[in-house]
Parts: sequence; C-alpha cells; structure tokens
Amino acid sequence: MHCPFCQAEDTKVIDSRLVAEGDQIRRRRECVSCGERFTTFETAELVIPRVIKSDGTRQPFDENKLRHGMLHALQKRPVSMDRIDAALNHILHKLRATGEREVKSRLIGELVMAELKQLDSVAYVRFASVYRDFQDVDAFRAEIDNLRDAGQGMGDA
Ligand SMILES: [Zn+2]
Repeated sequence: MHCPFCQAEDTKVIDSRLVAEGDQIRRRRECVSCGERFTTFETAELVIPRVIKSDGTRQPFDENKLRHGMLHALQKRPVSMDRIDAALNHILHKLRATGEREVKSRLIGELVMAELKQLDSVAYVRFASVYRDFQDVDAFRAEIDNLRDAGQGMGDA
C-alpha cells in the first residue's frame, strides 16, 4: 500500500502479528522511500448480505425482523431462548459465510426453516405454511406427513 507520508508506492512489512484474539492482523510497515513507519490492521470483511426481495427490490438485512418471525412461529412452544439465539446465530453465520453481497430472501426463508425443523416441528410447519408458497394442499400435507414419520409428534399443533 501507498505510504501515507510521501505517497510512495512501495512499503514493506517489517512485522506482522495477530491481535484481537486472532480476529485481526496488525502489520508494521516501513516506507522504502522516506523510511517512515506506520501500522495497518487487517480484518475479515464479514458483512451480512443485502436482501433481494421476490419483486427484485433490495433492502438491508434486518435481524430484528428475522428474530420476530422466528419467535412468532415458536410462540408457546417448549423451546428455550438459548436455543432460539443459537439458531439465529447459525443463520447469521451462514449468511456471512456465503460471501455474497446480496442474497435472495428465499434463501433466508430456507435457512430459517432448516433451523426451525431442528427446534420444533410445530413451529416449522407454522413458519413454512406462511413462508413457503405451498402450491397445493397435497404438498403441504406431504410435508406434515414427513414430520410425523420422523417421529416428531404433531399432537398439540
Ligand atoms: Zn514514504
């Protein structure tokens, strides 16, 4: 990178170490032209991608909206906040790990469904019935039958 003092193009790294518990690299650089030293920090860019809605409009990812949607599906279900938070973190992690700048809202819906499926089958069906546009009743019923077969019990749905 350019020297911030004389704008020379060549600077050399004279020291490099991990800081912030390994989340950051701190580099000491020296300008080969003027000899000034300066420090740079390097961190991974872990931004959450923007959301492409089905009509093609883009909007910033809204964590509160995601949380609200999950809590709504999990209303009065025997699932602890710890497990819900862990599921939310899984989703955020997967979104960051895509490395994409934009993702379709559908992907987020699928991630939520995958987590709810693990947490609680009733919440899963609640969410899926609203979110996934089941084209016909048979497809929806087949999904519920799958859950029944998996022995997750729908008794108090
Ligand atoms: Zn310089």
